[in-house]
Amino acid sequence: MIGDGKAKTLKQYGLCPESWLWCLHCERFFQAKDLTFDDAGNWQGCFWLRECGGSGIGVDVYAWDSWPKQNPDMWEHWPKSEVELKHGLSCPLYSGGGIIN
Ligand SMILES: [Zn+2]
Repeated sequence: MIGDGKAKTLKQYGLCPESWLWCLHCERFFQAKDLTFDDAGNWQGCFWLRECGGSGIGVDVYAWDSWPKQNPDMWEHWPKSEVELKHGLSCPLYSGGGIIN
């Protein structure tokens, strides 16, 4: 069960509660139903917002496959389908590691 504010946000972005998202800050996957209320007053915060500071759909929070779709090389290390995703699963932006500052 999700509240009205969250439901409105999901509808606005064409997401379902079960839609998978990925946070650019903590590089973890979570589902749209787990978005948190961010400091800007929107239901667009990463599930780990207090820890990672990630918020804003299309800013820090993206559809799970948004980045590899834009950068096909990323599919090499990215989960290939939603069935591979787990809440909290981490996937770095760059496969090599050590690149992210
Ligand atoms: Zn995050």
